[in-house]
Amino acid sequence: SWLLLALLGLLSGYAARRFLSQRNSLTAELRRAVDADEFVPFYQPVVLGESGALAGAEVLVRWMHPIEGIIPPNQFIPLAESTGLIVKMTYQLMDRVQEELLGQLPNLPEPFHVGFNISAAHCTSMELLDRCRAFLEPFPPGSVILFLELTEREAIPATPMTDALFKQLDGMGVQVALDDFGTGNSSLEYLQRFTVNALKIDQSFVAKAGTETLSSHILDIIADLASRLELFVVAEGVENAMQREYLQKLGVEYMQGYLFGRPVPFAEFAATHLPPAAG
Ligand code: C2E
Ligand code: CA
Ligand code: CA
Ligand code: CA
Repeated sequence: SWLLLALLGLLSGYAARRFLSQRNSLTAELRRAVDADEFVPFYQPVVLGESGALAGAEVLVRWMHPIEGIIPPNQFIPLAESTGLIVKMTYQLMDRVQEELLGQLPNLPEPFHVGFNISAAHCTSMELLDRCRAFLEPFPPGSVILFLELTEREAIPATPMTDALFKQLDGMGVQVALDDFGTGNSSLEYLQRFTVNALKIDQSFVAKAGTETLSSHILDIIADLASRLELFVVAEGVENAMQREYLQKLGVEYMQGYLFGRPVPFAEFAATHLPPAAG
C-alpha cells in the first residue's frame, strides 16, 4: 500500500498546486479588473426608523465583469482583502461615489449619510485619513456625513498608528460603525478601542425579531447596550413590516433592508429615492 500512499501524496500535491495556481490567476484577474475600473458602487438606502425618510446610503461594491456579468462581493472581497487589492478598490469607489453624489447634491436630504465598508488593510497607514479628507472636501459643511463600517472579518491591530488614525478620523467628524455587530468575538474590544458612533445589527438577528429565540434576545440586548453607550443603532436586513415595527419599539434610529430598497446603481437610486431634479 506504499503505492497507494505515494499516489495519494502525488494527488494532494497536484490539488494543492492547482489550488494555488487558481488563486494566482484569480488574483491576476482581480488586479486586471481594478486597473480596468470594473468595480462599481451600488447604493442601498438607509432610512430613519421612525419616519422611513431617507437618511443616506451604504455603498456595496459589485464587480461588473465583461464576461461573467455582475459578480457579488462575497465572491471576491475575501481575496481582495487577503491580497491587499481592496485598498485601491475602495479608494476608486470613494472617488466614484463622490462624483455621483456631487451631481445630485441639491436633491440629497441633509445631512446625507454615506457608508463605506473598510477592511483591516486600510488601517495599516494614515492614507485612509487623507482619502476621507479628500472625499469630504468638495461637500459643503454638514451636507454629507461619512461613515466607515468596520467588520471583524480581519482583526484591526491595536498599534499607536491605528490609535492615531481613529483619533484623527474622529476629529474630522468621520463616523465609525461596527458592522455585523454581535456576530464576531472582538466587538466589545473594538468598542473600547475606537471612538465608535454606531452599531449595525446584523441581519441574522433582525430576521428573528419578535420571535422567542436567543437571537431575538440578542437584538434587544444590543439595542439596550447602544442606548446606554449613547450609540446609534442601524438595523440591517429589514425585510417586512413586522420586523420594522419591532425595531421601532426598540427605538432603533436607522434601518436598512429590502423593505426600503435593494442596492442599486446610482442612477436608479436617484430615480427611486431622491426627489426629481429641479429644472
Ligand atoms: P454587509 O456590509 O453586512 O452588507 C449587507 C449585505 O446584506 C449586503 O450584501 C446587502 O445587499 C444585503 N442586504 C441588504 N438588505 C437586505 C435584506 O433585507 N435582506 C437580505 N437577505 N439581505 C440584505 P452584499 O451587497 O452582497 O454584500 C455582502 C458583504 O460584502 C457586505 O456585508 C460587506 O461585508 C461586503 N462588502 C460589500 N461591499 C464591500 C466593499 O466595498 N468593501 C468591503 N471591504 N466589503 C464589502
Ligand atoms: Ca456594511
Ligand atoms: Ca451584515
Ligand atoms: Ca437609542
